[in-house]
Amino acid sequence: PVVRKPIVGGNWKCNPSKVSELKELVANIDACDTSGCDVYVCPSTLHIGIVYKSFKNGAKVAPQNCNYKGCGAYTGEMSADQMVDMGLEWCLIGHSERRGEFGLPTPPESNSLLAMKCKYLLEKGMKVIFAIGEPLPVREKGLKAVMETLIPQLLEIKGMLDPARVVLAYEPVWSIGTGVTASPAQAQETHRAIRQWIAKEVSPSVAAEIRIQYGGSANAKNAPDLSKCPDVDGFLVGGASLKPEIAEIVAAVA
Ligand code: PEP
Repeated sequence: PVVRKPIVGGNWKCNPSKVSELKELVANIDACDTSGCDVYVCPSTLHIGIVYKSFKNGAKVAPQNCNYKGCGAYTGEMSADQMVDMGLEWCLIGHSERRGEFGLPTPPESNSLLAMKCKYLLEKGMKVIFAIGEPLPVREKGLKAVMETLIPQLLEIKGMLDPARVVLAYEPVWSIGTGVTASPAQAQETHRAIRQWIAKEVSPSVAAEIRIQYGGSANAKNAPDLSKCPDVDGFLVGGASLKPEIAEIVAAVA
């Protein structure tokens, strides 16, 4: 059987509010044991330049967004060229807070736009964490409806699913920042269904090798049980990545 190295990401979103608080957050990440687990952090754009050389344990810095065009007249944007130049390897795209599930940004980022961003990042040599997820009314209808939402999110990037360079983050929208976590059974059945879809649409080996993180109110308490799920390869962590417990989450998966 294929052994997938676990991967945990800390999404700091638009936090912290003060530069002076970064030191503590960096220390929380530095306390993570990276010997058996890839670790990345997504600082806010303003803070990337401050912290990107700070991590002593090999944790990587992944911006929370990227444009799909490069450098030039793109006010407020970030380009993969800039990321490559700074030695960054990973970039997060497709977070539900950017897809517009929480009303931001305007206009929301579509599946097609995200496919363009993914293609551009990969062409530039970057690796991509690609987030997908379904809102609550869809989850309430069951797994079939969930997959009917997730498949369009995956369809336009299916030819880009290189397991060495793309990690999927399954993040049910109803679970992000809510304190409501998917149960291990819900996470497992969804991750498995995603893998089955990839096996059919791309190839069994890509399905077996690609890493799928779970995201949505993951914390030190629920991480041990969720990480026992055979198709869960780690976590994308929001709120708890701002606390020392991120090290416990990494320890739970490794
Ligand atoms: C996230 O931002 O990707 C996330 C999962 O947030 P939280 O852990 O706070 O739910």
